[in-house]
Amino acid sequence: MSGGNIFQIQRWSIHDGDGIRSVVFFKGCPLRCRWCANPESWNSRPQVVFFSEQCSGCGRCARVCDAGAIAVNAGSPAVFTREKCRDCGQCCAVCPTGARKKIGSRVTVEEVMKIINRDAIFYRESGGGVTFSGGEPFAQAHFLRELAMACKRVGIDTAVETCGYFNWRQVKDIFAFLDCVFMDIKHMDDCIHQELTGVSNRAILTNIAAVSRIHPNVIVRVPLIKEINAGEQNIENMCRYLRENTLVKGIEILPYHDFGRKKFNAVGIVIDHTFTTPDDVTVENVKQLISTFGIPILEFK
Ligand code: SF4
Ligand code: SF4
Repeated sequence: MSGGNIFQIQRWSIHDGDGIRSVVFFKGCPLRCRWCANPESWNSRPQVVFFSEQCSGCGRCARVCDAGAIAVNAGSPAVFTREKCRDCGQCCAVCPTGARKKIGSRVTVEEVMKIINRDAIFYRESGGGVTFSGGEPFAQAHFLRELAMACKRVGIDTAVETCGYFNWRQVKDIFAFLDCVFMDIKHMDDCIHQELTGVSNRAILTNIAAVSRIHPNVIVRVPLIKEINAGEQNIENMCRYLRENTLVKGIEILPYHDFGRKKFNAVGIVIDHTFTTPDDVTVENVKQLISTFGIPILEFK
């Protein structure tokens, strides 16, 4: 069986589709969203992250690093020179506080299925299953296809969370093995989209339309950020596009949370921005506006 790179399998999730689910987080993403909650997923290869606020300055990591990537002054957090690091992970194995972690590993379909199958009874009883997330699952299309097929062979419900940035022709067949498809829309203005995510939104919008024409269960997800995409004009443009060009089942609003901020520092990415979680009034206004277009608002409990 073939394999791929993942960085986590989270069991007992109730936020990634119906029922109790296991979420398989793929490593590697073509987008660079500034508000990303999982920046450790961007790089497709396994990598070392360093949470300096957890470092006691004990120096164990520096002693085992033969690349000279770590310097320690007694009592202060270690200084990590990322450019010298080869991601061997030796320092992570000796760190007593969990300040250094190796994120990501190469796994086979068989290994993932072994973990997934442990909770098969809970999926059945709760109406849950497995959700492929990331990172971007379609960036490892062959691995995703094999995993989704393996789940269907044993009767496990499957969902995918995708940024929608993929080559439609190369992945079209995979949707036959997915029961639910969550696709993100970050912003309708292409220039703003490029500035915030690093890529154009054109392929994403076209792909949402294409998937929704062959799949009955496509749900658009909007990570709502007060100063970025919660404005009336953007929401109206999105609803108009969805109503006129797609057959999506509905929209799910995901209010932005600042979960990724510490992780940006840990993976060595400097961020120069702050975003605001939308208040209840803003979320309610956005939902009402969507309703006026006759598009259902969906929520998963
Ligand atoms: S991962 Fe390896 S090369 Fe990088 S800092 Fe740790 S020990 Fe050094
Ligand atoms: S081993 Fe861990 S706690 Fe000790 S200096 Fe290195 S990162 Fe800090």
